[in-house]
Amino acid sequence: MSASHNNRLKEMLALEKKLLNFKKSPLYIFRQRNKYIPVIGEGSIKASIMFIGEAPGKNEAQKGKPFSGASGKVLNELLESINLNRDDVYITNIVKDRPPENRNPTKMEIELYAPFLNKQIEIIKPKVIATLGRIPMNYIMEYFGKKSPFLPISKVHGKQFVIASNFGRVVIVHLFHPAFALYNRKNKQKMLKDFQILKKYSQ
Ligand code: URA
Repeated sequence: MSASHNNRLKEMLALEKKLLNFKKSPLYIFRQRNKYIPVIGEGSIKASIMFIGEAPGKNEAQKGKPFSGASGKVLNELLESINLNRDDVYITNIVKDRPPENRNPTKMEIELYAPFLNKQIEIIKPKVIATLGRIPMNYIMEYFGKKSPFLPISKVHGKQFVIASNFGRVVIVHLFHPAFALYNRKNKQKMLKDFQILKKYSQ
């Protein structure tokens, strides 16, 4: 294992330890009460492609794994459609603890957990960031210094934005949230098409 891989691993483990003890979050009490596990992320810390979702749901919080419920199945299928599996990429969320009743994370929760995600981006240094849904789309555009208001996801899904980051060129691809495929078949077709963009970055 190379020194840089070792360093990345160390930094990621330190981050995970910090998250386990993140008592400052209002979601920490809900986590403890329900014996939930915080969801730091999963996959390769050397991945070229990093997927960013919103926040864990119940399944995810019970298993401590991102996208492990119905939308996770869709995400697996989308990855398979371009010959990737979860070990080839890195998958995480902005918020690392489950918000109650599957509500959207609040602005305050996003701000509170953002330093974890920002550090993960710094550690992994992905070539491609694929956002899953509106909330991570807006977060990532702001993170890379783009000014809001942003276009709706229906207008920008499947388009690429090239950004000069402090660790080099990053391609941002906005994708629909995998749950969108659960509404109807047409949505899934659109999503399969959008995923084709990632194919060229998959090696
Ligand atoms: N939805 C998300 O945004 N993230 C998950 O991990 C699961 C569902």
